[in-house]
Amino acid sequence: MFKKILIANRGEIALRIQRACRELGVKAVMVYSEADRDAKYVRLAEEAVCIGPAASNLSYLNMPAIISAAEVTDAEAIHPGYGFLSENADFAERVEKSGFQFIGPTPESIRLMGDKVSAKQAMIRAGVPCVPGSEGELPDDPTQIRRIAKTVGYPVIIKAAGGGGGRGMRVVHTEAALINAVAMTKAEAGAAFGNPAVYMEKFLQNPRHIEIQILADTFKNAVYLGERDCSMQRRHQKILEEAPAPGINRKLIERIGERCVTACKKMGYRGAGTFEFLYEAGEFYFIEMNTRVQVEHPVTEMITGIDIVKTQIMVAAGEKLPFTQRQITISGHAIECRINAEDPYKFTPSPGRITTWHAPGGPGVRVDSHIYTNYFVPPNYDSMIGKLIVHGDTREQALARMRTALLETAVEGINTNIPLHRELMVDAKFMAGGTNIHYLEHWLEQHKR
Ligand code: ADP
Repeated sequence: MFKKILIANRGEIALRIQRACRELGVKAVMVYSEADRDAKYVRLAEEAVCIGPAASNLSYLNMPAIISAAEVTDAEAIHPGYGFLSENADFAERVEKSGFQFIGPTPESIRLMGDKVSAKQAMIRAGVPCVPGSEGELPDDPTQIRRIAKTVGYPVIIKAAGGGGGRGMRVVHTEAALINAVAMTKAEAGAAFGNPAVYMEKFLQNPRHIEIQILADTFKNAVYLGERDCSMQRRHQKILEEAPAPGINRKLIERIGERCVTACKKMGYRGAGTFEFLYEAGEFYFIEMNTRVQVEHPVTEMITGIDIVKTQIMVAAGEKLPFTQRQITISGHAIECRINAEDPYKFTPSPGRITTWHAPGGPGVRVDSHIYTNYFVPPNYDSMIGKLIVHGDTREQALARMRTALLETAVEGINTNIPLHRELMVDAKFMAGGTNIHYLEHWLEQHKR
């Protein structure tokens, strides 16, 4: 096992990784920007290094500063968390070239999955079902583009090969709008992701977002830890997640889970990863793979009892996966609400000083958050300030526990989306389970205030 790990992230995930390090008896080095200097999780770390000013491009995205911090503290490995540099193949490469272990997959795996066109092709080769669409990148010739769209069938969605974070996508309903939409998406993709390549998929009308968590070691062992339902989204951003996904046949999950495991073995994948699918009318369609730990990993930890972050570190240190597929059992139901510092209905960010923080508790309640009374939420980063996770024997019990936990939670001084979560937990359709990816947007439209 490593003696010392550098955590190249901030906020709740930095604290989550620090906790895993403590359990493993590994020292943690925290890097921080000037905006995070006084944060408790920074003070709690054995060592902490300032890597630059508040702006992420000068700190949490500053590769040379992070690598120097690892050098001066004698860290052996770097955990990138999620967001920031976690899916940057060049960073992973620089980390390894500098003699550190990157806690994540190889730069080659990150690169392969980072380009959605190459990712899809790799999945097709591995027998993972994908959304019907163009075979790879769209050509330039308008006649050919029209022909592809006709074969796929309208509506179609034009997606950037290098896209991410819900950006770089455009839905097209008619042939008349097609060529212009392709040109616009290409131009945006070139500007935003430095790669103008786009591809086409059938636009699924009412799918759910279901994803499979996998873990793999360097000895060709890989397992899947069941699925998560992340269909509650606004602007393609998840706001709450649950596991297992309500109402999906277990045999179907097993079949798709096994396909994901096969794909991991085929590409020599190591570490934690997520295969994201759209699920419609009993069929799974791969959309992309995330090559890192995800925000919503705790719901899987709650139903499997497996510590995903600790396992990531163990695998990176060259250990074998400590369990086989047969030893993984799913127990009960878990729900996660992302707590964001924002207006609950208008979604405008609400940074500032938290004057009161009261955390919930009780059986089956977990809080993953770095905040505390008097914490200042900096305006420079993502608005998520923590996650509330509950576990129950059944979905009904999990829902009841989440309602109680949300009632107990108090955050004063800033706005949060807790009132929205409280409403969603008593919404009849959500309570019934199985709502699709458009549900929340429609709900918000109907509950406009
Ligand atoms: P990103 O990397 O930006 O998150 P994804 O490919 O994962 O992009 O897609 C994000 C979201 O966009 C999905 O969760 C879904 O809501 C929607 N989406 C993507 N592809 C399709 C499709 N073919 N049909 C319908 N919705 C889609």
